[in-house]
Amino acid sequence: MTTQVKRKVRHLHHFIGGDYVASKSGESFESFNPATGEVHATVALGGKEEIDQAVAAAKDAFENGPWPRMSMKERCEILRRIGDLILSRKEELAQAETLDTGKPITESLTGDIPRSALNFHFFSDYAQSLSDEVYTSAPGEKHIVSREPLGVVGLITPWNLPLYLATWKIAPCLAMGNTCVLKPAEWTPYTAFLLADIVSLAGLPKGVLNIVHGLGADSAGEALTRHPDVRAISFTGETGTGKAIMSAASATLKKVSFELGGKGATIIFADADIDDAVDTAVRAAYRNQGQICLAGSRLFVEESIKKQVVDKVLQRVKAIRVGDPTKDMTQMGALISKEHLGKVESYLEIGSKEGKLMTGGQRIKELGEGYFLSPSVFCDLPGDSKLIKEEIFGPVLPVVQFSREEEVLKMVNDSPYGLSASVFSKDVDRCYRVSNGIRTGLVWVNCWFARDLRTPFGGMKSSGIGREGGRYSLEFFSEAKTISYKYKI
Ligand code: NAD
Repeated sequence: MTTQVKRKVRHLHHFIGGDYVASKSGESFESFNPATGEVHATVALGGKEEIDQAVAAAKDAFENGPWPRMSMKERCEILRRIGDLILSRKEELAQAETLDTGKPITESLTGDIPRSALNFHFFSDYAQSLSDEVYTSAPGEKHIVSREPLGVVGLITPWNLPLYLATWKIAPCLAMGNTCVLKPAEWTPYTAFLLADIVSLAGLPKGVLNIVHGLGADSAGEALTRHPDVRAISFTGETGTGKAIMSAASATLKKVSFELGGKGATIIFADADIDDAVDTAVRAAYRNQGQICLAGSRLFVEESIKKQVVDKVLQRVKAIRVGDPTKDMTQMGALISKEHLGKVESYLEIGSKEGKLMTGGQRIKELGEGYFLSPSVFCDLPGDSKLIKEEIFGPVLPVVQFSREEEVLKMVNDSPYGLSASVFSKDVDRCYRVSNGIRTGLVWVNCWFARDLRTPFGGMKSSGIGREGGRYSLEFFSEAKTISYKYKI
């Protein structure tokens, strides 16, 4: 007799006004494990009604609850407790993140979850350093500039770094005294669901953070962007979605912050430390299965070292261990969904016709029904190839050669995106010149993904509007107000 092991399928509710609630319609959608293709959870499907309910709870918490009236110190103590609780439940959260996203467990354990805790710890400390500005313009005249919360804020997040990016918005939003409604990506609702328990345990007052699960267009996401009581939208996701949100949010004149798509460039000059540059370029291209907005998804190499660099890249890429994301040894897991896998494969087809596939680009059948793809490298593509121009958001790396500094700058800047780039060279003057000439919000010199959370993070052109991080986040999530005094001296 064979015993069938039935896997547990959880049900994930919305979190509104401090309670777990089902959708009014009773409808739900399925969440898949990308590594097996199996359903691991059913999720309450929210729409306009649930958004109305969540915004009403957030509005009530803002107008009548303690949160905006607490001191910054009191609020920041709660934020710190949330960070502590995330760390104390690191294993559970990391497993949930890997189950939902297909990313390697080591990445969830050492990257996503500690960073989510850090987002709360960082803003808990940083927000307390904020002080009013005072200008004395004449004897007997002072102007005090302080910051006030906006009210109810909508936060909309993508699937590639689910808890990491949600907490990157929630922490500064709450620090400034706002209340909010989070709409997590429909592909990855699990860690947001677990966060609800954490914030309750940390003592966050009811209705301050509300979470509505659901889809984007014509659903919960869009309803949030159209709601008249929502004062601002902080969004991370695709450029096209950013445009739709801007248009929807314009009717109620919401403040918007957009972190959008990217087509990061890694540039290696002949005088660089080649091994270090190649190690970093490979990490930048394939980390998180290439599904990072900051990915170095175009590799520009000076002509004289092209063969050497390509050989070294291939050696490293062929050694990447793609496999079961729950295993410690795995370096690359599964792509997020069947649909996304299909999209990435359509680029592989184009690349194979237009240029030369040097390695990878294959489904890994031995790994079963999961959405696994071996990391690929392409050479000899035409300059206008879609692989070089468009954001693929997968483990695909086109290599392009150049011979002059001005030439590579022109190619790097010939992109609708402007998020990030990395420059590798030992010539300090050149590093400065090139970094200065690149039209991106972030430029790394001889490194990638080096971050200080106080610095502005965000993109130029189609990569976004506004910046996140440090005071840039706190300014977005607040209104500046000037009170001017005349007094007798
Ligand atoms: P997406 O735009 O498809 O979805 C993001 C979120 O928006 C989801 O929660 C979705 O439900 C919601 N949404 C979709 N349509 C909507 C609408 N019309 N109104 C309101 N909400 C809507 O993006 P994705 O596929 O989840 O994420 C991948 C994209 O995110 C890539 O382009 C990547 O570069 C970008 N990204 C950017 C950054 C950054 O910091 N710049 C960071 C991570 C990801």
